[in-house]
Amino acid sequence: MLAQSISRRLYATPLRRWSSTASASASASASGLRINSDRLLETLHHACQWGAAHRYGDGPTETGMARLCLTDDDAKVRRWLIDEIEKLGCTVTIDQMGNTFARQAGSLQSSAPMTAMGSHLDTQPRGGRYDGILGVMAALEVLRTMKDHGFRTRYDIGLVNWTNEEGARFPKSMCSSGVWAGAIPVEKAWGLTDIFNPAVTLRSELERHGFLGEVRCSSDAAAGYPLGAHFELHIEQGPILEEARKSIGVVRGAQGYRWLTITTTGRDAHTGTTPLAARRDPVLAASKMIVASNVVAKKYGALASTGVMKLPSSSSTNTVASEVTFTLDIRHLQDRVVHAVQDECLRAFADIAREDGQGVSFDWTLDTDSAAVEFDEHCIAAVQDAATNLVGADSWMELTSGAGHDSVYTSQHCPTAMIFVPCKEGVSHHPQEFCSPADCALGTQTLLESVVNYDRRR
Ligand SMILES: [Zn+2]
Repeated sequence: MLAQSISRRLYATPLRRWSSTASASASASASGLRINSDRLLETLHHACQWGAAHRYGDGPTETGMARLCLTDDDAKVRRWLIDEIEKLGCTVTIDQMGNTFARQAGSLQSSAPMTAMGSHLDTQPRGGRYDGILGVMAALEVLRTMKDHGFRTRYDIGLVNWTNEEGARFPKSMCSSGVWAGAIPVEKAWGLTDIFNPAVTLRSELERHGFLGEVRCSSDAAAGYPLGAHFELHIEQGPILEEARKSIGVVRGAQGYRWLTITTTGRDAHTGTTPLAARRDPVLAASKMIVASNVVAKKYGALASTGVMKLPSSSSTNTVASEVTFTLDIRHLQDRVVHAVQDECLRAFADIAREDGQGVSFDWTLDTDSAAVEFDEHCIAAVQDAATNLVGADSWMELTSGAGHDSVYTSQHCPTAMIFVPCKEGVSHHPQEFCSPADCALGTQTLLESVVNYDRRR
């Protein structure tokens, strides 16, 4: 029943467009393999039985997910995944953080690290069926397709399920790829406590479920589990692909960002008796600064956002406030642009501070500085070629990731790239998060072609 409803929807227009384009433009770099899209969707929804929650419709798959990291449901889906990859003849390795690696030997019998296809099976408490899950299920489908056809890559190839990507239960996002990359100490990650139960740690849950592996969680070749490359298929989690009517996003990297807190200080004054020219009004100044940051961001093609604005609790309607603080979140793919936007904003703020009445003083602090990530040119080229072969050069576009992903950490230690597929209205971290069956299938085929392209050029 489930399979039927999926396959009916699957063969709607988007897949036809893909099929005709794909067959018309088959080239020497195409693998000659075709993923089984019915099996992909059936498997994805089968795996969502563990943690299904937040029903929003009558259909069998019309629920969201609540599969928090290392809960009983997460343990069940992990055990199921291990069974499935062992059926394919893959070698399974679990490291100290419960990261699960499945490895299929390549024809060269090389000891070089494998080309990995990774993402995560944990979700937000009110999450959907695609964020992370699609990437792991796509990797499984790629391995199954290769097995079906007796296809061997040259180098070893495999799948990774990264533990606690969401950071929803144990509050540290991209937690275990961060440990693998050496950015987060393993003891610190193990010591994270359940947000509702401080007696439960991430380590105690790994032990309880039998996922505390012995292999060091590290990219280090001697003691850990190094990767030769990392490819991640993920839903976009934004509206850009859908609005541009593109079916694949080739992700060039992740934005750099800086978070600042700005404080503008003026003087309390009666609003009825204090002429405008005599005022020191921090709300007016802060408002103009926020507007100015938007103008600067537009000029550079960057993002600038204020998410928090605080006035003293003693504020009143008929008093000019004494002080305002606001946050400024600046983002761009290139760090130098982030810095340029920050500098130009601060210069504009200094001018604004002098503009009205008697002016205000302002101060700022830098709270967070996260460098931009640029993915590997060879991995990006492998994805671009795959996308061009499958949908034609006009149906994919380059994107940068606005959100964090495990690939941001893997890119520090191995060549990495990501593939985005559209999700309905850009919605994610929500039960109704939706990626069409055709887009799930196309993304998975793109993942397959990308890793084969990369393997041939390695
Ligand atoms: Zn994700």
